[in-house]
Amino acid sequence: MSYSAFYQESIQQPEVFWDKEAQLIDWHTPYRQVLDHSHPPFAKWFVGGETNLCHNAVDRWLATQADKPALIAISTETNTEKIYSFAELHTEVQRMAACMQSLGVKQGERVLIYMPMIAEAAFAMLACARIGAVHSVVFGGFASKSLATRIDDARPVLVLSADAGMRGGKAVPYKPLLDEAITLAEHKPQHVLLVNRGLAPMPWVAGRDVDYASLRAQHLEAQVAVTWLEANAISYVLYTSGTTGKPKGVQRDVGGYAVALASSMKHIFCGNPGETYFATSDIGWVVGHSYIVYGPLIAGMATIMYEGTPIRPDAGIWWSIVEKYKVTRMFSAPTAIRVLKKHPSELMKKYDLSSLQALYLAGEPLDETTSSWIASELGVPIIDNYWQTETGWPILSIARGVESLPSRLGSPGLPVYGYHVQLVNESTGALCGANEKGVLAIKGPLPPGCMQTVYGDDQRFVQTYWNNFPHEQLYSTFDWGIRDADGYYFILGRTDDVINVAGHRLGTREIEESISSHAQISEVAVVGVEDQLKGQVAVAFAILKHPELAATAEGRRALEAEVMAVVDKQLGAVARPARVHFVGSLPKTRSGKLLRRSIQAICEGRDAGDLTTIEDPASLQQIRAALAA
Ligand code: ATP
Ligand code: MG
Repeated sequence: MSYSAFYQESIQQPEVFWDKEAQLIDWHTPYRQVLDHSHPPFAKWFVGGETNLCHNAVDRWLATQADKPALIAISTETNTEKIYSFAELHTEVQRMAACMQSLGVKQGERVLIYMPMIAEAAFAMLACARIGAVHSVVFGGFASKSLATRIDDARPVLVLSADAGMRGGKAVPYKPLLDEAITLAEHKPQHVLLVNRGLAPMPWVAGRDVDYASLRAQHLEAQVAVTWLEANAISYVLYTSGTTGKPKGVQRDVGGYAVALASSMKHIFCGNPGETYFATSDIGWVVGHSYIVYGPLIAGMATIMYEGTPIRPDAGIWWSIVEKYKVTRMFSAPTAIRVLKKHPSELMKKYDLSSLQALYLAGEPLDETTSSWIASELGVPIIDNYWQTETGWPILSIARGVESLPSRLGSPGLPVYGYHVQLVNESTGALCGANEKGVLAIKGPLPPGCMQTVYGDDQRFVQTYWNNFPHEQLYSTFDWGIRDADGYYFILGRTDDVINVAGHRLGTREIEESISSHAQISEVAVVGVEDQLKGQVAVAFAILKHPELAATAEGRRALEAEVMAVVDKQLGAVARPARVHFVGSLPKTRSGKLLRRSIQAICEGRDAGDLTTIEDPASLQQIRAALAA
């Protein structure tokens, strides 16, 4: 079938199309209705059907490949490697589920997972899915304040964590940050279940904290049946980086998500049972949910969970894993490839990479240099794919499993089936023609697998995503894009203010809030500035309550260090601004909105752009002066 026909059916007859795709997973009870779109923009998929993510990821494969690898946990930090077959994974997930139940976790309740990249984190996610508990994984790089906000929003009955993670040969303690977060949070989880890796001392709160190894030992023989869930039950809540200060809890369903993942594994990632998939992301991000844990397992593949950096012990490490486990499909981010590009390519060439059939890259724009370099090194197709935490699976890509259409450098490709992608004029809402810049929007209903709502806040879901254009209710991606005459899309940047530091998503608002908590700061603007290595770095411009403190270079340096320390402590070192400049005023619109885009342009040596609404043009001069100093 041509991709064009496949796509057209998905848009014109979504019910017919998704009814077929839904056959890729197991249903305990058939659905009554493929799609209920009677209350737009909300969409309910597979209404009345009962299924379970854990069943489809694990139990389903026991009949045909119980002894085949399912989860391969590799840590180049602790030098450990462990393969769990589907049968072993099934056992471990049931043990974990029994532990959770023994701590009182019930269907529909939230379990927060704040863990490093260890097998137990995947057991925990799957165990939640099995018993119908709602997991919320928080990226391990976040520090106590970010974690506390998420605890208060998700209100978990149980938190899972560990003594520490490890990065670059150093232990990164988790437990003290978690304890501090729970102190800061209003909501108090009843229990904290802890995996002790023996990497860092663990302060212990009696009565609340529980040791996983001991509890697991009591449940070695546990048999925990799958809880069948209506397709629209909540599977998980995953927080976005939070441009507006308070992060949005992206809430996802069970049935639609399972179908979308099974479908994308077939048509986009082309994975087959028995093969190995390697996504280098982290379970704290959406890629970790969709394409480390659920997607590959639902497709019957072995999935690799990797703790470590791409360059330790050397830059050949990932390729040695590809060779050893005969990885067929790999998923990473452009930033990681740029890091590898700095190292000798012999480290890559040393290994037999003949199993590898394609490399998928997502998360940020894939520049042509990086793309061409890695394509020639690997000799396999490089498949850019564009999507968001909100959608859970690609919006733009080339679905090579349907038709092997060519890629185009710099473009993630064509709209993926199910997504009625449109480019619209930001202010008029009019459709853009070829080669005309607009905001990338999606006409509802969003396909299966996309967010159901903002957790606990339907109004915020509608308000944030669906109310941005006149005349018509469209989902806004908040990304600028352009489409060429052949229908290939190009992403031009974001309309909001999130920055991407070495693959980590950070809301500039969140960093600003953290900096503002320093006693001497009266106001601050944070922007993302292009960086050769990290993609972007945060740069802060702050107004002091007592400007005289920044009169000397010494004073400025001391304050800068203090501000950085505040961010480290509250949000984690990933969020630390590369520079903190002190200025007398900040460029704003007359309505008081910070002109972040103009600040960013100046930092990157570009023209400050449209300044018709600026209140005080002299403030731009201050930014330039601060940068020059
Ligand atoms: P928040 O929603 O809290 O503001 P975020 O948008 O950074 O955070 P994600 O959902 O992880 O968090 O990232 C999705 C965004 O990443 C997209 O909207 C887009 O800006 C960018 N992106 C993802 N993939 C690509 C790609 N292949 N090419 C270009 N940009 C991409
Ligand atoms: Mg976003």
